[in-house]
Amino acid sequence: MSVIHDYLRPKKKFPHVWCAGCGHGTILASIIRAIHSLGLDRNKVILVSGIGCSSRAPVYEDFHTLHTTHGRALAFAPGVKMSKPELTVIVITGDGDAVAIGGNHFIHSCRRNIDITTIVFNNSIYGMTGGQVSPTTPEGDRATTAPYGKVGEAFDVCQLAGGAGATFVARGTAVNPSQLEKLLVRGIGHKGFSVIEAISQCPIIYGRLNKKGGPVEMLKWQKDHSITVESFHAKLSRMGADKASSSILEGKFLTGVFTEEKGVPEFCENYEAQVRQLVGKREAA
Ligand code: SF4
Ligand code: MG
Repeated sequence: MSVIHDYLRPKKKFPHVWCAGCGHGTILASIIRAIHSLGLDRNKVILVSGIGCSSRAPVYEDFHTLHTTHGRALAFAPGVKMSKPELTVIVITGDGDAVAIGGNHFIHSCRRNIDITTIVFNNSIYGMTGGQVSPTTPEGDRATTAPYGKVGEAFDVCQLAGGAGATFVARGTAVNPSQLEKLLVRGIGHKGFSVIEAISQCPIIYGRLNKKGGPVEMLKWQKDHSITVESFHAKLSRMGADKASSSILEGKFLTGVFTEEKGVPEFCENYEAQVRQLVGKREAA
């Protein structure tokens, strides 16, 4: 039996709801492998999710599970972390769940630097709830609520997270699960708020609406349009000019680690310190 099977809940929760060819199963497997390779006690790990296709992932995994309401995983998860700081708290969310409905919780979690890992499954659309346009739907692409194409640019989840103060920010893809696993290991192991965006494919809703082909074509698209931060910098130094960056990146997106700040004060520890100070003052009075 593989490591993956050992962490699933086949009897109680399968069959799963995901469509054939969906990228979410690949990402789930990377999450399990990352937790396993970190050697974490499964009874000290909690997965918190909102609503949507991605938010079903914790249901299938044998860790503590908190399946909450749409967009609110990052409203619940800090409560868990603050009451039980010894737990590894991992939020699993989708693009709509994280940066539309839950956008306010997302930016304030980044700002607070609370020790939680948030994994954003980005399939560029609301899948489960009907194919509505999401903040990460690319400009011009169709959704059920944008039948003539989305007007306006897409949110960049990683730039949003970094700008709001997350101390670990990275992006991986379903087409490269071994890279994704390494990013997850670093992100989960990071002390502070980590965001790992995982580009996923939704062949059934987004793919069909936008004539992207089946899962194989969509995975090939991810492979052909992504470039690691390391190869980007290597190409840049070979070309020897900053102005070359736009040509290297044309039509492509970066994967890898964008931010990793160590030693930044963490929210739960700051809060605890304040409580100790207040208790000390009261006892001295
Ligand atoms: Fe995956 Fe899309 Fe199906 Fe949801 S609707 S399970 S994201 S393929
Ligand atoms: Mg989505």
